[in-house]
Amino acid sequence: MSDIAPNRFAQVALDVPMAHLGASLFDYSIAAAFAGVVAVGSWVVVPWGQGRRVGVVAGLSDHCEIDAARVKPLLAVLEDAPLLPASWLELARFCADYYHRGIGEVTLPAIPKLLRTPPSARPRGSAFARARERFAPPASARAASVPPELNEAQRSALDALRAADGFAVFLLHGITGSGKTEVYLHWLDEVLARDARCQVLLLVPEIALTPQLAAQVAARFPAHSVAVLHSDLADSDRAAHWLAAVEGRARVVIGTRLAVLAPLPALAAIVVDEEHDASYKQQEGVRYSARDLAIVAASQRKVPIALGSATPSLESWHAARRGRYRLLALPERVGGAQLPTLERVDLRGRKLRHELAPESIEAIGAALARGEQALVFINRRGYAPVLACESCGWLSRCSDCSAYRVLHRVGAARPARYRLVCHHCSAEQPVPRACPDCGNVDLTALGRGTQRLEEGLAELFPGHRIARLDRDVARTRGAAQKVIDAAHAGDVDILVGTQMLAKGHDFRRLTLVVAVDSDGGLFSSDFRAPERMFATLMQVAGRAGREPQRGEAAQRLGRVIVQTRFPDHPLFEYLARHDYAGFADAQLAERREVGLPPYRFQVLLRAEAVTQAEALAFLAQARALGESLLPSATPAGLARASADSLRDGAVALLDPVPMAMSRLAGRERAQLLIEASARPPLHAFLRAWLDGLRELRSQVRWQLDVDPLEI
Ligand code: ADP
Ligand code: ZN
Ligand code: ZN
Repeated sequence: MSDIAPNRFAQVALDVPMAHLGASLFDYSIAAAFAGVVAVGSWVVVPWGQGRRVGVVAGLSDHCEIDAARVKPLLAVLEDAPLLPASWLELARFCADYYHRGIGEVTLPAIPKLLRTPPSARPRGSAFARARERFAPPASARAASVPPELNEAQRSALDALRAADGFAVFLLHGITGSGKTEVYLHWLDEVLARDARCQVLLLVPEIALTPQLAAQVAARFPAHSVAVLHSDLADSDRAAHWLAAVEGRARVVIGTRLAVLAPLPALAAIVVDEEHDASYKQQEGVRYSARDLAIVAASQRKVPIALGSATPSLESWHAARRGRYRLLALPERVGGAQLPTLERVDLRGRKLRHELAPESIEAIGAALARGEQALVFINRRGYAPVLACESCGWLSRCSDCSAYRVLHRVGAARPARYRLVCHHCSAEQPVPRACPDCGNVDLTALGRGTQRLEEGLAELFPGHRIARLDRDVARTRGAAQKVIDAAHAGDVDILVGTQMLAKGHDFRRLTLVVAVDSDGGLFSSDFRAPERMFATLMQVAGRAGREPQRGEAAQRLGRVIVQTRFPDHPLFEYLARHDYAGFADAQLAERREVGLPPYRFQVLLRAEAVTQAEALAFLAQARALGESLLPSATPAGLARASADSLRDGAVALLDPVPMAMSRLAGRERAQLLIEASARPPLHAFLRAWLDGLRELRSQVRWQLDVDPLEI
């Protein structure tokens, strides 16, 4: 035993599929040779099965729970790797506890793959050396771009941010085009100037928004290194930027949700742009909300955080209303630009051409005639949502999902070529020559997606330049940026696309927005659908008429046309008045009434199995187990209507039900909703419940989703 340091064991976080055992910290003994080198935050290589793995030391101890003779020794310490800061492990611990996952599942995936590969084939440490080399310091001697002078609202928002001392959450509610980004940049500039070593973190919801912002930041802060972190980077770039962030060489870190888990040793301020965006919630693995974790990180690190949006999430709005967050308002557009006027076009009984009402067609024509741009928004990609046989009723159902396969045009070949694609499981098939059921050769494309709308617009407005932007276009690297650049340069007359067009872009010649089909969110079973719909429409509408007013003001006024079958719906009233606050307050009142978030806390247990019966049976069993754990019997099957009566601290388990999309990629899915009026009893319940669930040893795959966004 003399080669073992006296009573030394390391608890190592590993990313191994142990979630169902509730463990991802493993004990290893520390050989004397490593005794002085291994610390909390060290990177180590450990034996695992037949192979080796890289892990992070999360704790040290002089004893271990299991029989010391069976504990394996650490194989190596990666001395070239940076010591991961305790603050990071603290955040990771919170994340693991709150989302009820293993700490290894949280920490390891946050580390770039290149750096957490055991250095067997390569010479030791060289992955780190290469990553360090790859990150270029900023080109010196560049002049900073000159920031615009802030207007009064921007200045008072900046004053409030600048006065923050320690932890504080600010909600910067600024209408579209009000200059939120300028406020962030001024603030971060001051923070960076205050301390020569500190770092700032800027989160954005979409990968597509990072290049634009990174360029803006680099131009503004030429003296500071900027690291960019998102999942679409080449492995070597991701390693380089991540390491620069972790080693403090990058002073500004811009990234999508995964950047919140980057260990920043000198974090001094955080900005979460478009904080309402659902992309901040991870939808697989550890289902964390990057916005919520950013707030936790700010609180742990005692630094200020600013959440910005034109349409804050109702959770954040509620917190601001109650005074937990400090509300900063930018109620006007910069340069005196007016908000666009909003018109509703009633589609009932109207004859449409290519899904467009005569008013819409006329408005587009008029904008083009003035040399302005129009944006046509439809939240459906592909050519047509379904292919149908009108003689027997056959529809292009996906064989593996409860959904239709969408007709897509492929390539630019003439005559056009098509395929059927499932948007849920990605299954693809050629378009059948004839109806598989009755042999009818005359199949009909029903409805319209971006591709078909693009085609229709080309027919309606020949000779005009039309560009499309949706996820299919964005799949080709750089293609989305090309469309946006072309639109900025004025080389596009009509932009067609999904909500990818809604975010962050500043098209100066754009004066008209047409929302083709907006009714989807009005009557959805998901209580968040109206909130999402309002936000999307407000963001899309916000692209119109951003050019500051000069001379010919009246013509330049932006115009938004919303095509709907429910023109009297109250949501549109708020939208037409640009009244986010009114809408949000009304939604909150409704949610309070029926007991929904943010007045209740929700968790989903999702199960998937070969048959729906199996999934439901598992959830019934889970529910029975849960009921037995609740202190005083909660009435079984507490219905939504009575969730209102949930006592303080009570936890309720609802009936298991098939998911709205019950079948996905050949698996049947069901869910069980857990509601509670307070977080601590909810999480105490979940801990006990999960221990029991792991014992069930069912064939059914299940996961927990804390604070689910889609129900
Ligand atoms: P938001 O993020 O609120 O939609 P941005 O920060 O992108 O708005 O600002 C919109 C446009 O107005 C940008 O081009 C920005 O450079 C410009 N801008 C912002 N603040 C000012 C200001 N005070 N004076 C002049 N231009 C400004
Ligand atoms: Zn048929
Ligand atoms: Zn499918």
